This record gives sequence, C-alpha cells and structure tokens, in this order.
Amino acid sequence: GCPGRLLELKGNIRVLCRLRPGTPSSLVSLEPGPGGTVTTCYRGHQRRFRLDWVFPPHASQEEVFRELESAVLSCLGGYSVCIFTYGQTGTGKTYSMEGPPEDPGIAPRALQSLFREMGTGGQHHVTLCMVEIYNEAVRDLLAPGPPQRLAVRQGPAGQGGIQVAGLTHWDVPNLESLHQMLSLGRSNRATAATSMNQRSSRSHALVTLTLRTASPSRGPGTAGTLHLVDLAGSERAWKAGAAGTSQEDRDGAQRLREARTINRSLLALGGVMAALRARRPHVPFRDSQLTRLLQPALGPGATVVLLLQISTRPEDLGETVCSLKFAERVG
Ligand code: ADP
Ligand code: MG
Repeated sequence: GCPGRLLELKGNIRVLCRLRPGTPSSLVSLEPGPGGTVTTCYRGHQRRFRLDWVFPPHASQEEVFRELESAVLSCLGGYSVCIFTYGQTGTGKTYSMEGPPEDPGIAPRALQSLFREMGTGGQHHVTLCMVEIYNEAVRDLLAPGPPQRLAVRQGPAGQGGIQVAGLTHWDVPNLESLHQMLSLGRSNRATAATSMNQRSSRSHALVTLTLRTASPSRGPGTAGTLHLVDLAGSERAWKAGAAGTSQEDRDGAQRLREARTINRSLLALGGVMAALRARRPHVPFRDSQLTRLLQPALGPGATVVLLLQISTRPEDLGETVCSLKFAERVG
C-alpha cells in the first residue's frame, strides 16, 4: 500500500472510488485504501464491492492526484493514458477533474506535472484537442467561432483508428498558453450549456493532449497521449421523465432522449472496457461516438483509470449501487 505506486503498472484498467462529501450514511460504508471496498445496504440487501483504490471520506484533491501522477507521466514515454470521471450528476465528477481555481483537480495538476517534467528542453511537441459529445454529436470546443459539429469516420483500412474531419489541434508551447486554451474550451462548453439548461451534465467532455518526442533514440513517431474525460451523468433514464404542461412534456421528452443516449454510450464504454480487460478479440468500439473517438487511446497497452464518484445519500442509493456495478464490470 505505498501511495502513488498503484498506477505504475501500464496497460491496465484501474478503478478508483471517491465519495462526494456529505453526511455519511450507514447505507454506504467504506474500507479505504488499496483493494478497498464499498459496502451498500439497498432494499435490505447487503453488497460489497472491491475496487483498486477507495479514497477515504474527505480525501483532498492532492491525495487523488498522487495516485494518478505516475500514470499521467507515463505518456512522456509514449504511453496512452485515459482518465475518466464516472458517476451520477452532482457526485463531484467535474470537481475531481477540474476543481475550483483555489483547489485544482486532476486536469490542471496533470498538465502542470507534465510541463514540469518536460522542462524547457524543447524535446516535446505538445498539441491539444477538446471536444464535447452531446446526443451523439461531436463538437469541437477549440474551433474559432461557435462550436462546430464534426464528422467521425473510420480511418483508412489497415491503419485502424478513426478520423475526425476538421478537428482543431492547437500547438501548446507552454503551460500558460495551455491554460488559456482550456479556458476557451470550457467557456465554449458553458455557453452551450446555459442555452440548453445544464446541458454540461448531459454531455461528455474530452480533453486530449498529444506529446511527441523528438528524441532520436526513440524515433520520431513516438507519441504519448493523455485523455481526460469528464463523462455525462450516469443516472438512469426514468429519472429524467417529466409530465405536466406541454412545454414540460417536450422538455421531459428531450431529457429522456438525452438520458437514453447517455446510457447507451456509457454502456458502450463499459462494454469496451470489459472486452479489453478480458482480452476478447472483438472490442465493440463502434457502439458509440465516445468509444469510437477513444478507440486509438484504448488499445492494448493503454492505461485506463476510472474514477468512480459516488454519493452516500440514502435517496441516491439506487444510483450508487448502479455505479458500483459498472465499476465491477470493467475493473
Ligand atoms: P458532477 O460534475 O458529478 O455533476 P460536481 O463536480 O459539479 O458534480 O459537484 C457537485 C457539487 O458538489 C459542486 O458544488 C461541487 O463543488 C461540490 N463538490 C463535489 N465534490 C466535492 C469535494 N470533494 N469537495 C468539496 N466540494 C465538492
Ligand atoms: Mg459535471
């Protein structure tokens, strides 16, 4: 149980669990640490879930990042690393990934750590992309002007992977410019969110950093990638239904449609991760835009971290159990 060592093993899926702070409940109890457990008592039924790491209640942002730092830095060696935050809306996915300015989360810490490690030697060429997936539409958050919808196509035969026509790649000369680009992407996302009633919790946000090294010993083509993915809320569709005035019905129908596409794409992500874990020959990448986009990043040798965010509130227990079942399937 040495902190920070957990994720040194590459090419694996790791599931970490963090609680949203709040009143603890006898219905959700923890055994924190490596190989820790979460025990739920739902409808008189007790279930125990084992995870790769369970953070104690009130774990700090720093504590969370400490477990991820070695995985993050492995992209400098040409590895592919994907970090997801998963959970019901309101459980702290965005808090963990972004965090408030005074207490930054995984993304700002990861970028700072990478740039610190790269130093000023200029041996790495860094590019940034940022997209949002809403109702299976992929939008470029870094394009000039309003977010553009992008077409995702299968790449040339034999080369695997996908092509996203017109996706903006920005060169990142330093950490300061990176932060400027990220805040532009975030504000593009927020603009769309206010016009569509909290849409941000119903879309996936993907930040991708590509690091190419010019080191002759490694060859010119070695590229590491870091994907930071703030997933849409995982709550089930029935919660989104509404009835009342016809406007409410229309909104309710829209919510239901959103919830169904989210459920489908999270199910696809779970299917892909479960197939990768079991080393099955067929991995169903094509089942959603999320898994299509991430296909090149989820191949063999990739490090995948799922940070499961859960609530301890009694009224959320059904969703908490669902999230833990998801983790059990992929981890
Ligand atoms: P999500 O992205 O999963 O919908 P948020 O990250 O927006 O959830 O968190 C919901 C609320 O809870 C926010 O007000 C956030 O600041 C707060 N919150 C979540 N996790 C923490 C935490 N670990 N410490 C303090 N506040 C938190
Ligand atoms: Mg959020």
